[in-house]
Amino acid sequence: MIISGELSASNETGNVQKLDLGVVICKWCNQVLTTIPTNGVTKIYGECKDGACKESNHKNH
Ligand SMILES: [Zn+2]
Repeated sequence: MIISGELSASNETGNVQKLDLGVVICKWCNQVLTTIPTNGVTKIYGECKDGACKESNHKNH
């Protein structure tokens, strides 16, 4: 079918390899929590579970 050809063409266009360039960093201890597949280098700030490191970091200071 002709539709099949169109699908193939669009698949070629969307043939972009996504790499794990997005990193989720804890905003309190700067620890890399996880990496996520994005199209560019992206830093996303999160925090460790329940913000526990927020308190411990405060104690260390
Ligand atoms: Zn943390």
